[in-house]
Amino acid sequence: MADVNALTSSAYSQALEVIASVEPRVAEATRQELADQRASLKLIASENYASPAVLLTMGTWFSDKYAEGTVGHRFYAGCQNVDTVEALAAEHARELFGAEYAYVQPHSGIDANLTAYWAILAHRVEGPWLQNAGVKNMNDLSETEWERLRNELGNQRLLGMSLDAGGHLTHGFRPNISGKMFHQQQYGTDPETGLLDYDALAAKAREFKPLIIVAGYSAYPRRVNFAKMREIADEVGATLMVDMAHFAGLVAGKVFTGDEDPVPHAHVVTSTSHKSLRGPRGGFILATDEYAPSVDRGCPMVLGGPLSHVMAAKAVAFAEARRPEFQTYAQDIADNAKALAEGFLKRGVKLVTGGTDNHIVLLDVSSLGITGRQAESALLDSGVVTNRNSVPSDPNGAWYTSGVRLGTPALTTRGLGADEFDQVADLIVNVLKSTSPGTTSAGAPSKASYVIADGVAEKTKAAAAELMGRFPLYPGLDLS
Ligand SMILES: *Cc1c(COP(=O)(O)O)cnc(C)c1O
Repeated sequence: MADVNALTSSAYSQALEVIASVEPRVAEATRQELADQRASLKLIASENYASPAVLLTMGTWFSDKYAEGTVGHRFYAGCQNVDTVEALAAEHARELFGAEYAYVQPHSGIDANLTAYWAILAHRVEGPWLQNAGVKNMNDLSETEWERLRNELGNQRLLGMSLDAGGHLTHGFRPNISGKMFHQQQYGTDPETGLLDYDALAAKAREFKPLIIVAGYSAYPRRVNFAKMREIADEVGATLMVDMAHFAGLVAGKVFTGDEDPVPHAHVVTSTSHKSLRGPRGGFILATDEYAPSVDRGCPMVLGGPLSHVMAAKAVAFAEARRPEFQTYAQDIADNAKALAEGFLKRGVKLVTGGTDNHIVLLDVSSLGITGRQAESALLDSGVVTNRNSVPSDPNGAWYTSGVRLGTPALTTRGLGADEFDQVADLIVNVLKSTSPGTTSAGAPSKASYVIADGVAEKTKAAAAELMGRFPLYPGLDLS
């Protein structure tokens, strides 16, 4: 076989020359982005490094093609090659996750959720309404009936995990469209343990009687029992939607199985493809045969033309995730998160829920006397990229926060193991213990500005670069 690293180097060097001939500053920023990603410790839980094959697949003329519709049923002519890649992506997704049906057109996680919401509304509300009215097509409803149906669609209830417990803004958060298109209520975690409280959730579901229960999270460091979630949904007649955007890689890699695998339990599963799953930036939906015909109408219901170049890259990424190596990768993500969590606990840093059993570690930095924002900034100055995050009942609110969210998928891709993650914990703890709040112009303690003890940022940055140098990103890719 040809030397893939050498091919990748020449492919990117030549691509950057072509780009530079039009706008050299974009070529330069692209080079610099690689250098920056190579040097920094990327602990953002939602990020990863896709393979060169996945990245290269995105940069083609598939981007130029309109293909509204579904495989074999397009509103545009000449879609035979788009049909090939979309069908492949869907087939790989079905096989990878053991799903009855897969829809790979959503452009992002948010698009996948919006599409899923409207598919569920179409299946549960609009379909029965049309049947009752004795018409096949909504265009055949009278103006009065149409107004009544629109009101009915706008009158449905959604129960999702609250943002500060680790849910996502698309799960009924008021500033998001999901909080406006539904009557929404939120479930949370036990204030003592930080763990999901299934009994409180069930009680809330019985009282609220939602049409949809959404499970899934962006910042919850524990596994979820989806069999239990389905039982609750069935009891109240709700559709169970699981948003696995964050942990799809752990499902694909068979770390989450049985009750922890959402696919056999949920009616509809939504996801991104670019987080722990390590594919191109995009979204997709898995569904049971019952919901498939509604999800299949994502275009024209919610979406316009699909991103054919990204669907092609999804096919490549899902094919990668079907290889046995991906299961090893997924198990390493979870093992590394455990090592990282232990590294913090033994150095006296508090963790939300006291640990992790997925890919996320959520630091509570309040006992160190700083805000999440100060911690995030001090770490960034030190070459460690993280993001601040609320902790349950956060006294500092959603902007300053008291937490820092860390995730292991990206650095696990680079090959770091348990020993290195312990070293990462050591570097982080040292920075946080060397950081203190600055003062506002009025002399009060600030929640934003901060002071790091002399030399700590520089020393940490050098240690991070040394560590990253031992685990090169895209080894062999040389743009010089
Ligand atoms: C990241 C995320 C999304 C949104 O994905 P985008 O591709 O950024 O739109 C949706 N839901 C959850 C749970 C997420 O973590």
